[in-house]
Amino acid sequence: MAENPEVQCLVDGKTYHVDEGLYLADLSTTIRQRVKSDYPEAKVTDFICGHHLLKYRLANVDAMINSDLKQSQKINRKLTRAMQSDDYEITDVNETLSKSLTFGERVADDVARFGGSWGFIGIFVFILLAWMLINGLQLFGVHFDPYPFILLNLVLSCIAAIQAPIIMMSQNRSADRDRMAAENDFHVNLKSEHELRILHAKLDHLSQNQIPHTLEVEKLQIEILSEIRSELAELRDRQE
Ligand SMILES: [Zn+2]
Repeated sequence: MAENPEVQCLVDGKTYHVDEGLYLADLSTTIRQRVKSDYPEAKVTDFICGHHLLKYRLANVDAMINSDLKQSQKINRKLTRAMQSDDYEITDVNETLSKSLTFGERVADDVARFGGSWGFIGIFVFILLAWMLINGLQLFGVHFDPYPFILLNLVLSCIAAIQAPIIMMSQNRSADRDRMAAENDFHVNLKSEHELRILHAKLDHLSQNQIPHTLEVEKLQIEILSEIRSELAELRDRQE
């Protein structure tokens, strides 16, 4: 058969049918480089038999799997380190504040809350009207603060003088709470950003390395299948 020449395998020098292997020119670049690193004098016109080629193909697949695994482990280690990092300590603002709350501060909060309610206004208006009616009309014969209610003025001034700093205290505390919440948010954002960046690296690794490698392995399978198919066809030809 003139159109089916016999060729020599570059590994062991044995003679094979041309269908039983491939020329180096037909190999993928990575496998060809692998062969060339073992046989530096090999040329692209050299032939390698299927048996020896399989060894290089498997070595190539192994190398891909190993590099993918190493990369994944590296990214996972990074992620674990980021999760454990103390830089992003997150505190429960409400819990921290309520733990450090003194009796005075709690009273200030309650007073401020009551002072800013409709209930307080209602009660206050009622007391004012009662005071003025009792003293103005001298009901029940009581007139300890006759018109123009100078004592009432004094009482009102005292209440206002005390209420203002109490409200300020409460406001300071809510400002503290806001500041702590903002700090917390900042840390949470920082942590999310870091994790997101690692996730990006993971996705990049998946799309740029792992998926192409999987496709390459699939291609290899198809190549081997087509080689088997052509060998079968050759066998069938020889039988006829
Ligand atoms: Zn061989």
